[in-house]
Amino acid sequence: MLSGVGPASHLSALGIHVVADLPGVGSNLKDHVVVDIGYMDKTKQSLSFLRPTSFTHSLQLIKALWQYKLTGKGPLTTNLAEAVAFIRTDDPDIFPPSEFPPETAVEDTTTGKAAPDIELFVTPVAYNEHGAGTPLGKGQYTFMLHTVLLRPNASGTIRLQSKNPADSPLIDPQYLSDQNDVKNLIRGVRLLDRVAHTNPLKDIIDPAGDNHPKLHQNLSKTSDKDLENLVRERVQTLYHPTSTARMAPLEDGGVVDPFLRVHGIPNLRIADASIFPSIVSGHTTAPVIAIGEKAADLIKNAVGGQARR
Ligand SMILES: Cc1cc2nc3c(=O)[nH]c(=O)nc-3n(C[C@H](O)[C@H](O)[C@H](O)COP(=O)(O)OP(=O)(O)OC[C@H]3O[C@@H](n4cnc5c(N)ncnc54)[C@H](O)[C@@H]3O)c2cc1C
Repeated sequence: MLSGVGPASHLSALGIHVVADLPGVGSNLKDHVVVDIGYMDKTKQSLSFLRPTSFTHSLQLIKALWQYKLTGKGPLTTNLAEAVAFIRTDDPDIFPPSEFPPETAVEDTTTGKAAPDIELFVTPVAYNEHGAGTPLGKGQYTFMLHTVLLRPNASGTIRLQSKNPADSPLIDPQYLSDQNDVKNLIRGVRLLDRVAHTNPLKDIIDPAGDNHPKLHQNLSKTSDKDLENLVRERVQTLYHPTSTARMAPLEDGGVVDPFLRVHGIPNLRIADASIFPSIVSGHTTAPVIAIGEKAADLIKNAVGGQARR
């Protein structure tokens, strides 16, 4: 947009010379959001010591650091999200109609009957505000379960606040502006609660965490309304923003064609997460790499004279 490619009215209002009027630039912002539910671990096997809040934690961390340095093994080999599940909100085995009445049903936003709309994952440590917040308890051991909204209906925007490139853009993700997205996350949280209260996790939850304001160890009796409040309070980005220069025809708000070329600007291609027509139902790095590989092939073909487009 700073270079004059974007919605003409927005660019003109900021005094930017319009090179190409492409209304889709900066629109259709999609992202995966996540809701985290924390638990206290009575086995003290969790990795809360990675951010030490007690002398014992510090000793464990030093031991883990040495173990990793000397053997390449131990707790520091974790990728944190150690187990994942991809599921559907309309799976009757997981959400039986007897417990989930029709008014709680989630609209099908998936790409097909075998595609998921919820991801669950577990981390062997609970964290707060993306890990930047205060640890959840001094010397405590915690873990977390997480539910991810994979197919959001809501979409947001990116706009400029001025033509000065040093000014931050205005990012309005519109998270949870669509009630279907909220319903999806409520089902996800209910499932997390059920997983947590099924062994082996059930036996390791420490009742000492029952009344901790940032842990939510028992949600089975919580109403949907209260779960909605919890979802809205705890929702965070999973850092997967996409689709602000989506691949689609110009009349559908598209910015690039199927060959990654920006509509109306010869020889300018985009190869990153912004060209996703919509967000994928999984994490974004692998598809971005695939786009990069494809872009290299397209450009090689184009400059090589074969299949010049
Ligand atoms: C904290 C975090 C954790 C994540 N974890 C995962 C994960 O576990 N798995 C997964 O699949 N995905 C994960 N993602 C998402 C994934 O990293 C992104 O979807 C992916 O990197 C997007 O690729 P991209 O090429 O679109 O953008 P980027 O990777 O952001 O690349 C953009 C590049 O453009 C450069 N750049 C910006 N402005 C300019 C400019 N004016 N001139 C020149 N260069 C410029 C930047 O320096 C950067 O190198 C995570 C993201 C974050 C932030």
